[in-house]
Amino acid sequence: MLFESHIQASRNQEIVLESFHTVNLEIKREDEIHSVVSGNKYRKLKYNVEYAKQNNYTTLLTFGGAFSNHIAATATAGKLCGIKTIGIIRGEELITKVNENPTLAYAKACGMQFKFVSRSDFKQKDTKTFIEALKVEFGDFYVVPEGGTNTLAVKGCEEILTEADKDFDYICVPVGTGGTISGIINSAKPNQKVLGFSALKGNFLMEDISRFAKQDNWKLISDYHFGGYAKVNTELIAFINRFKAINNVPLDPVYTGKMLFGIADMIKKDYFPKHSKILVVHTGGLQGIKGMNTRLKQKQLPLIQ
Ligand SMILES: *Cc1c(COP(=O)(O)O)cnc(C)c1O
Repeated sequence: MLFESHIQASRNQEIVLESFHTVNLEIKREDEIHSVVSGNKYRKLKYNVEYAKQNNYTTLLTFGGAFSNHIAATATAGKLCGIKTIGIIRGEELITKVNENPTLAYAKACGMQFKFVSRSDFKQKDTKTFIEALKVEFGDFYVVPEGGTNTLAVKGCEEILTEADKDFDYICVPVGTGGTISGIINSAKPNQKVLGFSALKGNFLMEDISRFAKQDNWKLISDYHFGGYAKVNTELIAFINRFKAINNVPLDPVYTGKMLFGIADMIKKDYFPKHSKILVVHTGGLQGIKGMNTRLKQKQLPLIQ
């Protein structure tokens, strides 16, 4: 069953990069936990869903953009656990595009109810007034924040690393809102270095991570966001396709693809000492490939295989 409380460990798989390298690389296949509630979104929802159920909530309400992995994961979790889900979606124009958007179409099929709001209203989503108005409209619900990051989410992400991972020198993980890396930092050994690969521009993440992280053995790498969340270029797409051909591991274009592109570049630049043992966390997000391919096709660019 999906949200049972025993700790599930995912397997570590050895990987290689195209260019010759002298480090040991393994990838933790969190993407294999579930086809949609995969990777970190499973970890982040687990204790939140448990809490909602224990406190007799019948509805989860959350927020996200048009291609959000978190929206897809929450919709799936709701369906599997018999809890109603409501998604507050950024962008009023999407209301007529649900069926052509793979993420929203999927979430709808899982039973998620949507409310589409303007970008400026979406910015108000954490205010009391906004939430109160939603309660008038939808009745009582349990709020899962955008991207799913809160204390219970970090607790879930503390279960990604296990004792068997203690010999790695570096743990690499993609960063969106910072919840996942915070859990990893908390369960890493003090001698392990946690590297976070930011999918966003800007340094505001440092503060968010510091709020939840209990150790300071981490560093944010901000050179490989490719201009922001949904931004890609043909070099990145080619890298993702070659990586899959060589390792038989699919990567998503928003988080894990950019992280591995970054790791390959840093290895080339001798960032890691020779024979370093590096564990890369595959946080999932593969449901987003379809949506990205729709956009790549419109621009007549090569697709993700
Ligand atoms: C959401 C997501 C992240 C970012 O996680 P945060 O906890 O928000 O930092 C990383 N990878 C994938 C695949 C995601 O879906």
